[in-house]
Amino acid sequence: MSAPRQGKKKLPATYILLGLLIGAVAGVAANRWLGASHAGLKNFVDSVAQPVGQIFLRLLFMVVVPLVFSSLVLGVAGLGNLGSLGRIGFKTLSYFVITTAIAAAVGITLINTVHPGRFLSREKAEAIRQESSGEATAKIEQGKGGTGFGAQTFVNIVPKNPIDSAAKGDMLALIFFALMVGIAATTIPKDKATPFLGFLEGLNAICGTLIEYAMKLAPLGVAALIFSVTARFGTEILQALSAYVLVVLFGLAFHQFIVLGLAVRWLVGMNPIRFFARCRGLMATAFGTSSSSATLPTTIKTAVTEFGVPPKIAGFVLPLGATLNMNGTALFEGCAVLFLAEVAGVDLSLGMQLLVIGLAVLTSVGAAGVPGGSLPLLALVLERVGVPPEMLAVILGVDRVIDMARTVPNVTGDLTAALFVARSEGEWKPDEG
Ligand code: ASP
Repeated sequence: MSAPRQGKKKLPATYILLGLLIGAVAGVAANRWLGASHAGLKNFVDSVAQPVGQIFLRLLFMVVVPLVFSSLVLGVAGLGNLGSLGRIGFKTLSYFVITTAIAAAVGITLINTVHPGRFLSREKAEAIRQESSGEATAKIEQGKGGTGFGAQTFVNIVPKNPIDSAAKGDMLALIFFALMVGIAATTIPKDKATPFLGFLEGLNAICGTLIEYAMKLAPLGVAALIFSVTARFGTEILQALSAYVLVVLFGLAFHQFIVLGLAVRWLVGMNPIRFFARCRGLMATAFGTSSSSATLPTTIKTAVTEFGVPPKIAGFVLPLGATLNMNGTALFEGCAVLFLAEVAGVDLSLGMQLLVIGLAVLTSVGAAGVPGGSLPLLALVLERVGVPPEMLAVILGVDRVIDMARTVPNVTGDLTAALFVARSEGEWKPDEG
């Protein structure tokens, strides 16, 4: 049975899209007429556009920890027993892994077909690399500061102190804790569980209202964020890397509209065009914020109010998806590793390329859903397949644009997963053909 749509209030999708458009056009115009290094423009970006954008992002981030915790505990408790939790968990994770692997394969196939590395001379690449080398070193160090891919990765999923993990934004540990609390809540006597779950329902509803407040700022927030990116963009570097950028953007669009479109058609049973029309506000928010985590509140709201997914399924699948399921990131990683290998003159065998797919899937699971969250892990992948991780510097200058674009399939993939799981559980039906 399809859950009734809660409230008819729609997300201000049109205003958000308008904000994106105005911000982008104004930023490009300012960049062209004044130049990226114009003092007044720099000042405006630093003291107006950036702060406005950051306040909007923080208003969303502020809600993420209580929202993830309350949604997951309520989701798990709502599923009722370990049997259905295991079944739904298995379906969800399988969907995540399969679509993410397809995305990485799409990325690798595209680079192998177009070879954008041919369009960038060694000298030019070296000049770009030197310019961003400081930033790249910071990312590489950040990647090394993590735990790599060893047994410790799994140990770290179990938090020593869940409050500490939440405070540090360690989402995997927070998810683990919330899942355990949810499971435990289903096994204790009802009179003990009910008040606790009632409290979480209140917290969850409050999070929803806080998000509504924040989203009122969304058109302005995304305009400010995209203005900051476009106004300061070095058009020269964009030109030098245009082949790479175009290939990645094409791949992301292909995955978003063709691969996910087919998933919507076959697995969700909806007309893809109507599906994408109904989640345009969600896509614009993902693009504008460049962050799956900041978009999570909107993803949950879209799933529940726009598509009518039961909250227990949305509350279970979507917080997991925001952290674990990043189709766009895996596609980007596949492209970036192969492109940088080409530029560095490293020949990757078929076996190595398959390893890249595996690592892209793994690291997209571990990447934080924040702007540039995957870059430290990308450095690790480069190192692992024998490409100097310093090569990361070559693509850093254009990554902000690609980051915005890859966050869209990241988030749309989560929504399709929730619809697929809800439908396959007989908990939801598409309301059109
Ligand atoms: N910005 C991406 C996200 O939040 C993560 C990344 O690929 O850097 O989904």
